[in-house]
Amino acid sequence: MSSPAVTDDAPVLIVGGSLVGLSAAVFLGERGIPSLVVERHVGTAIHPRAALVNQRTMENYRSVGLEEEIAEAAAREFTQNGAIVSVESLGGKELDYYFHNINEGVEEISPCPRLFITQIGLEPILLRKAGEVGAEVQYASEIVGLEQDGDGVTATIRPRDGGAERTVRARYVVAADGAHSPVRERLGIRSLGHGSFSDSITIYFRGNVQPLLGDRNLSVVYVFNPRLVGFFRFSIDGDAGFLVVNATFDEEGNRSVAIGEDTSEDTCIGYVREALGAPDLPVEIENVQRWSATADWAERFSEGRVLIAGDAVHVMPPTGGFGGNCGVQDAFDLAWKLQYVLEGKAPPALLDTYDTERRPVGSFTTEQAYTRYVLRLDPSLGKENLMPIVHEATVELGYRHVSEAIGLEADDDGALWEDPAEPSGRPGMRAPHVWVERDGKKVSTLDLFCRGFTLVAGAGATEWPAAAQAAAERLGVPLDTYRAGTDFADPSGAVAHAFGIGSEGAALVRPDGFVSWRARAADGDVDAALARALVR
Ligand SMILES: Cc1cc2nc3c(=O)[nH]c(=O)nc-3n(C[C@H](O)[C@H](O)[C@H](O)COP(=O)(O)OP(=O)(O)OC[C@H]3O[C@@H](n4cnc5c(N)ncnc54)[C@H](O)[C@@H]3O)c2cc1C
Repeated sequence: MSSPAVTDDAPVLIVGGSLVGLSAAVFLGERGIPSLVVERHVGTAIHPRAALVNQRTMENYRSVGLEEEIAEAAAREFTQNGAIVSVESLGGKELDYYFHNINEGVEEISPCPRLFITQIGLEPILLRKAGEVGAEVQYASEIVGLEQDGDGVTATIRPRDGGAERTVRARYVVAADGAHSPVRERLGIRSLGHGSFSDSITIYFRGNVQPLLGDRNLSVVYVFNPRLVGFFRFSIDGDAGFLVVNATFDEEGNRSVAIGEDTSEDTCIGYVREALGAPDLPVEIENVQRWSATADWAERFSEGRVLIAGDAVHVMPPTGGFGGNCGVQDAFDLAWKLQYVLEGKAPPALLDTYDTERRPVGSFTTEQAYTRYVLRLDPSLGKENLMPIVHEATVELGYRHVSEAIGLEADDDGALWEDPAEPSGRPGMRAPHVWVERDGKKVSTLDLFCRGFTLVAGAGATEWPAAAQAAAERLGVPLDTYRAGTDFADPSGAVAHAFGIGSEGAALVRPDGFVSWRARAADGDVDAALARALVR
């Protein structure tokens, strides 16, 4: 048999078109890089799965113009700003409130609130946008072969309807192919971490829970009762929901995490009624999904031209709602790096910083989800050697990127995260959000970033903008410059304070909104300092 013809199809091939793959297609397309997305399923998500979209993810979507549309779709699915609570049963005793309102206390640190929207609601928005910005999405098809060479990657696509295999060429591959990532496995990349600790199930059901909810707005309800441990989410009308079951107990109180072994309808109805505290409530089971609660991350996030993102490189229990968010943020980090390398604005070595920057974030976030799982759901896993809990906002917005591409300061203490409510502005951190006035409109400092590199200068830093433009032009790197008092109003000096640059200094912000370098005063050769920062 002759081998199929080889054609150069797209600069980037994305394996897997779920939350992370579609987000990658949007972020790349928005930067002018078309992609081919190949997805095994026949369409977007049919199960709700992730729902908590955190502030950093919403900032990423805001930067591509999707914030409003996602917020509108979210409002159709959930009453926003709900509580996260633990109970003995929904109709029974309340045990604890982890959050009374998921946005309480974090309103000031981002222009975007946390939202609740399921993957069923979110993925069609991403799919439409991906198409608008030049991505092609091929459903019902699998990548079954991947070979790298010096110029690119050759991939074999097999349609699931038995049609002919096709071979495509891409310069780079983003593998967003999920927790069992065939691409990662083919590359022999090992997983590190805590492994799997529960054969959990998610039971999708219909039943009128509204009388049990009463007037409470509950986004997530953890259940701890003598029969089971898990959590609920409910539909906006209170007529349906899902129950995750992570552990069950027999009459003697013996714990079992092998829940997936019995998913019969009767057993599942029993679990739902028990957790609702409503032994006679009519309940109809729609679907049962079996999955492993696992806390692992990959030993490497890339191999040559293959860059791996999302659950494929960090899989964590849903406690905290971090998993999908962390994956979307991987994709955001990758998009500008791929753009710069493909457009020749940066050498391929920039892509090495994807692993250096995102792997520590992936392992940190996974440890945070694992600690929450152990403390909230299964202390029998052992409380020794747990990473101490760090506040949710710090996990979501306060992590740091450290690599060759970041210009650390001489007095840097090497911290890998900080409280985003008190930003330091130091290199490697997300550039802080401050409301400013520009052209008569209230905008976030974050709205100034993410197109290319951006220089933010203090009001007295008169030399920096012109020096930065000159350096950027010499290097062929697009740069926007904004000086406080001239390009935006900042009468109280809040921007200079948040960025830690004072009146005379400046900060260079990367296209992903992270600070890559800063000068706290205009000392020495301004021109040369900026050129060094941009080259890095
Ligand atoms: C009950 C539950 C609740 C959760 N809640 C939250 C939450 O509130 N917030 C949050 O952030 N996260 C949450 N998560 C986690 C979140 O769902 C995942 O982290 C997220 O879906 C991962 O997305 P992904 O795109 O990386 O992987 P996946 O969603 O697994 O997608 C991978 C895709 O790749 C495709 N694929 C695989 N191999 C191939 C191949 N060879 N060729 C073509 N296609 C292929 C698959 O068909 C699949 O569609 C939750 C998870 C669960 C189970």
